[in-house]
Amino acid sequence: MKNITKQVYKGLILPFRGILSGYSILEAYKLLRKTQYLPKKELEKLQLIKLKEIVKHAYETVPYYNKKFKEYKVKPDDIKTLKDIKKLPILTREDVFNNFPNNIVSNSYIKTHQKGLTLGYTGGSSGNPLKFYKDSLTMSMLLACQWRGWSYGGYKIGDKIALLGGSSLVPFLGSSLKSKFKLKFSSFIKRMLPLSAYTLDEETMNVYIKKLIKYKPDIIIGYPSALKVLAEHIESKNIMTINPKSVHVTSEMLFQDQRKAIEKNFNCKVFDGYGSGEAIVSAFECEQHNGLHLTAETGITEIIGNEMIVTSILNKATPFIRYKIGDKSKFINRECSCGRPLPLIDHIQGREGDFLIGKNNRKVSTVGLTLMFGQAKVKEYQLIQESKNKIIVRIVKDKDYSNKKTEYITNSLERWLGNGIDIDIQFVDKIPLTKAGKRIVLIKKI
Ligand SMILES: [Zn+2]
Repeated sequence: MKNITKQVYKGLILPFRGILSGYSILEAYKLLRKTQYLPKKELEKLQLIKLKEIVKHAYETVPYYNKKFKEYKVKPDDIKTLKDIKKLPILTREDVFNNFPNNIVSNSYIKTHQKGLTLGYTGGSSGNPLKFYKDSLTMSMLLACQWRGWSYGGYKIGDKIALLGGSSLVPFLGSSLKSKFKLKFSSFIKRMLPLSAYTLDEETMNVYIKKLIKYKPDIIIGYPSALKVLAEHIESKNIMTINPKSVHVTSEMLFQDQRKAIEKNFNCKVFDGYGSGEAIVSAFECEQHNGLHLTAETGITEIIGNEMIVTSILNKATPFIRYKIGDKSKFINRECSCGRPLPLIDHIQGREGDFLIGKNNRKVSTVGLTLMFGQAKVKEYQLIQESKNKIIVRIVKDKDYSNKKTEYITNSLERWLGNGIDIDIQFVDKIPLTKAGKRIVLIKKI
């Protein structure tokens, strides 16, 4: 039975998804399985061809690039080697935000390629989501890259996936009937079990464990902070029946204690991964666990200082050329024993703005905080980092609120941030939304 479902998935559902997106994901996957073994020089030749193409396209059809390249006195013909990319200006998040849609989108391309075009959003703590268009080739290649990354941990097309994450991993988490149906349908198509990481109290985790035992996922994907909380709960309940082939973590920095707890209680290896909402490059740890292999087939990565600067060599709808993505890493200059020449980078350092800063510049992810506040069951909360030594926590109490919760929140924050940080808890009736109707979890004044 299991094999039949897999065959139906491979033979029918996948090609159907390919037709919907206008580009075959299966074909992309087959190609990527080969290109990961291309010698470095061959891979760079491929990147140069695509880079020239995208630079010319941006210059000719996107007003922002046309103007900027002229300012920098650079023409598409000046790109003769990969190193020439340095002649081009850096693109910031603000540049994309301020110029969308008219000046940063290729309007002529969008008009002729409407089929399969997706409007992408990325979050961030600023409260202003970044909008851009992704074309079907970009979408298919990025998804196929994800499959290839998961295959390093044993994933095969059609395998069952369980997801434990927030809105970036578990989409459509709404309460309306329509969004519930949408989630069910998309979960069926993707063969996945979505679990929200926003509230991980005891009751919810017991439900999740039951679901996982019943669903028997082949792989589990999620935020490391959430997976660690769940792994420890599994340990406390002495449950040994969830045995996926591998666990893949993403969206946050992975710490050693998290890796250990997850590996011990899910009884398999953890694979670190990196992806960006902007759909430019991603990176995956292989079975040798020597760092993360970049998906060089989708983009070019430069690292200046420790800042990642990425260029999509695929997306013609909204070209991202030398985009300062806000993630930090460094190259690992050695060959990986797995035999894949794809460039290696170190584990990603957190995104700017998504962290509270504690003692000695210790960074505490807002995703981890979300889990803690979820466990405390406060109605709403907001954190304001006033200075390096002071944090204001605004809380909207729910009817079960007690002093014990204040104690729990204060203790957790002190433990994470380090001693000597002034934590000022303020109770408010409500937390104001931004003009766009968004709630900001973290405001940083430093
Ligand atoms: Zn490797």
